[in-house]
Amino acid sequence: MSIKNNIFEIINSLPAHVTLIAVTKTQPVEKLEELYDTGHRLFGENKVQEMVDKHEKLPKDIQWHLIGHLQTNKVKFIAPFVSLIHSVDSFKLLQEINKQATKNNRIINCLLQIYIAEEESKFGLSYAEAEQILNSIELTELKSIKIIGLMGMASNSNCKEIITKEFHQLNNFYNKHQNLTTNNINFSILCMGMSNDYVFALQNGSNMVRIGSKIFGERQNAFR
Ligand SMILES: *Cc1c(COP(=O)(O)O)cnc(C)c1O
Repeated sequence: MSIKNNIFEIINSLPAHVTLIAVTKTQPVEKLEELYDTGHRLFGENKVQEMVDKHEKLPKDIQWHLIGHLQTNKVKFIAPFVSLIHSVDSFKLLQEINKQATKNNRIINCLLQIYIAEEESKFGLSYAEAEQILNSIELTELKSIKIIGLMGMASNSNCKEIITKEFHQLNNFYNKHQNLTTNNINFSILCMGMSNDYVFALQNGSNMVRIGSKIFGERQNAFR
């Protein structure tokens, strides 16, 4: 199967209101060009340096989504062009994104990443921590960011019940905050679902999915 066939098959299977982020991490630039030629423009990367390098080499109408853990000292490298940061997991990081967005004269859209899995290894905020950020007075002072929704990764499990429970809880939390509109909060995106679990994510309210291996085939390094 080609990249083109794979992506068309996925897009055709998604409801119209669902946005597909093609996860291009670890793929060489030639594969990204092949993807670009299908007309797709939403690319997701999980490492800052890799995203910066690929951004330099590829056409400028690609929208780059940062889906992996972001260190505060690296925000400056992506601030000029990033389209959406999925992985906000601290207020300190939001402050730095705000600072760099201001420097670049832009407003940077962000998702709060919520820790929904049972495993230890995933980054993200607890529901309580997210609640605290969303309700903080300090947040209202960040004029150059916008929190437009939530992101979560389910447990790496074959158990449908576990995955469904995790997506369902995040959906509930999302729904609870959908009307919490402020100067810089306005939810419209619930980003859940990867190649192996997006079907369950869609059943539980996801409207943005991040899919890599189903488009490109299995990655060489399973840890990335
Ligand atoms: C790698 C990655 C994906 C895509 O994973 P696939 O299983 O290849 O679809 C989605 N989200 C994040 C945060 C990732 O790091």
